[in-house]
Amino acid sequence: MMKSITFCAFAAAACLLVFSGCGRSSGEGGDNEFVMITEASFPPYEFISGDKIIVIDVEICRRIAAELGKELVVQDAKFDSVIPSLVAGKADIAAAGITVTEDRKMSVDFSESYVISGIVIIVRKDDAEIKSGADLIGKRVGVQAGTTSDTYMVEQKQEPDRFDSPALAVAALKAGKVDVVVADVDPARVIASKDPDIRILDGMLSSEEFAVAVRKGDKVTLDAANKVIRELKASGEIDKIKAQYEAEADKLKGNE
Ligand code: GLN
Repeated sequence: MMKSITFCAFAAAACLLVFSGCGRSSGEGGDNEFVMITEASFPPYEFISGDKIIVIDVEICRRIAAELGKELVVQDAKFDSVIPSLVAGKADIAAAGITVTEDRKMSVDFSESYVISGIVIIVRKDDAEIKSGADLIGKRVGVQAGTTSDTYMVEQKQEPDRFDSPALAVAALKAGKVDVVVADVDPARVIASKDPDIRILDGMLSSEEFAVAVRKGDKVTLDAANKVIRELKASGEIDKIKAQYEAEADKLKGNE
């Protein structure tokens, strides 16, 4: 189920978003609206704190909307429906810590990347058995559905247990429902930093790049996105925004 959120205000410290309850399908909404679709269980890129969604990706898309002279509207969806919603015309841009992959390039166009990332292994603190990717064989592995952690396991010819968020996969790990979790490094760090029962193994299973996605051939949005991302990278501001939201994410407890 997709939730609609209206971008209400921006302050230096945080993006304030309020659930508006007004849906938008293709063709609806004012001409001035620029609709971003995201998935708000992915700290520090997007996460909910009280009634706010605090996000790196919204900050980027707010600037892209401004570049186009439009007003940003944010919609929240499960990760595995973010790209399909964009393709179906329900949004103008998708930004959710989305990794650029060859597979996804077949259905959307990606901007220049704005972050280098990767996926990691999360184990229970007392686990002495799982030390590297090779030890995942035969284990019950929890992942967020539709993510690169999911495809990584499928490529290893192993069917993972799928959850709606990294936090829910970790909850299953703690409950003994899975043996191990594979997840993006940034949300993994946010979750592990406030949970003494789990730890992240050293080393990443992949090297990935995040970018925003637009519909195939939407050169106007793509050009605006690339201009904004280039400027954010050249000025070093992207690192500052990331550090700011990492600090915000660290203040929170449990993000699902
Ligand atoms: N980076 C991962 C991917 O693109 C996960 C993104 C997310 O869960 N928001 O698959």
